[in-house]
Amino acid sequence: MHRMMKNPMDLLPMESEQPGTFPKALPQLVPSSVCFQCEVCCRFPEADSFLRPYFAEQEIQAAVAHGLPLGSFPDRSGSQINLVENPLGEGYLCPAFDAVSGRCGIYEARPLDCRLYPLALMWDAAHEEVVLGWDTKCPFMPEAVPAEIVSYADRVADQLTAETMTETITANPRLIGRFQDDVVIVKALPHLTASLSRLRIDPRLHALTAADAPRFAQALERAQVLGPDALAAYAVPYHAIWTPLLPHWWMEAGETFFLFAQSPDGWFMPLPPLGSRPIDETVREAFALMRCWNGPSPVSRIENVMEPQRRLLEQRGFLCRRKDGDYLYRAEALAVLTGDHYKAQRALCNRVEREQVLVTEPYCARHRADCLALYERWAAQKQAGALDAMGAFLLEDAKMAHNRVLAEHEQLGLAGTVVIAQERVMAYTFGYWLTPQTWCVLLEVADRSMPGLAQWLFRETARSAVGGGARSINAMDDAGLPGLREAKRAYRPQAVIDCWIMMDGER
Ligand code: SF4
Repeated sequence: MHRMMKNPMDLLPMESEQPGTFPKALPQLVPSSVCFQCEVCCRFPEADSFLRPYFAEQEIQAAVAHGLPLGSFPDRSGSQINLVENPLGEGYLCPAFDAVSGRCGIYEARPLDCRLYPLALMWDAAHEEVVLGWDTKCPFMPEAVPAEIVSYADRVADQLTAETMTETITANPRLIGRFQDDVVIVKALPHLTASLSRLRIDPRLHALTAADAPRFAQALERAQVLGPDALAAYAVPYHAIWTPLLPHWWMEAGETFFLFAQSPDGWFMPLPPLGSRPIDETVREAFALMRCWNGPSPVSRIENVMEPQRRLLEQRGFLCRRKDGDYLYRAEALAVLTGDHYKAQRALCNRVEREQVLVTEPYCARHRADCLALYERWAAQKQAGALDAMGAFLLEDAKMAHNRVLAEHEQLGLAGTVVIAQERVMAYTFGYWLTPQTWCVLLEVADRSMPGLAQWLFRETARSAVGGGARSINAMDDAGLPGLREAKRAYRPQAVIDCWIMMDGER
């Protein structure tokens, strides 16, 4: 698009944004000396050029507040701007552009479309993927895309894929321009592609965010599925931490909450439908939707079906297969670790207490950098140990989830604790209350070079949960990893909660 950046800003961190707004500052690369000499931006050959800047509703309001007439916008809920004839020559101008001074008259309020330039958001040639490209019409563009521009595009892409930005861009799909062959594609934006594709799949779908927790809680209440044997998956944070990797979408239909995950292979449900209607009825509806979106692919399935639901569904002719279940422990037993069963764990706790001075603190933002460094250390220690291919794969995926938790634990409804020893963070853990009696341990990382630290942290977690009223600790499943299974069994679970996957197709 032909835009003008007359006053490039420094690299500023994106401020916290509200849904429906765009960030006030994006990183800027083109030097102002280049912009001031440019004869391209903000000028257009035809009155109806498809390159006219797009303004979202709030951007229109801001532009009008800065002096542009409302009549410049054919649709005040979001539209491309009406151009005006160039008083000094041929062609047309953005009405905000002052041809004499060469400046944008609404610079502080110019829309995202202009702030991005010379980067451009557009569909690829097949109209299948949203991409970020570099417009070769910008005189700053050298012949090839240098590494500097690629890393600049990376930083911009990071901002564009922030949750509120994704929502806002998805609500303004016309911000994504048509393919231009003189725009060099620098980066694909799969998050935006996925977000926009759900509009094509079913407009009732909404991206799952931490803000959906109250709606989810109401659905759980209606479904009456939370009890002492509930799976950890019946909570928002369990799913929300994976959304950067695996977009999750929800919809409500017939007073039933449907949660879907969009994998590269197709759509599936990480939970059965939640509502007060008979579950066989809502499950049939869910499979009908997935069949429609996935075709006959076996990817259509419903995960985390609990035992009472399975019994009922199998009576109605549905097919289920077993999945790894959550390990459930008596909280009091883990808090004290008495008896021969816990001799090894107790010895390790005693050892680390003898050898180290350990301090626990509630996690807060100032611990983030140290926790990220710890994660890298811990991952390297695991890689250096006997980690199979599956373990390595999960470790790679887990990094994104840990990053999300460390950045947004409060919004996600998670509480964290860090352990400080030798003047640095040596362990951290995050979890949530599944019910008032059950604490779920979602993440736990302990520096493996300090023997006994992991066991000590787990005991401290149990002690703190008991203090908060917990009767049980849910430590999630073992992901099918033999080492993890052995470690979880060594703590003598009171139960491994039955968990099932329901497949499409009735008997
Ligand atoms: S809003 Fe400003 S930057 Fe955007 S096209 Fe108009 S004059 Fe140029």
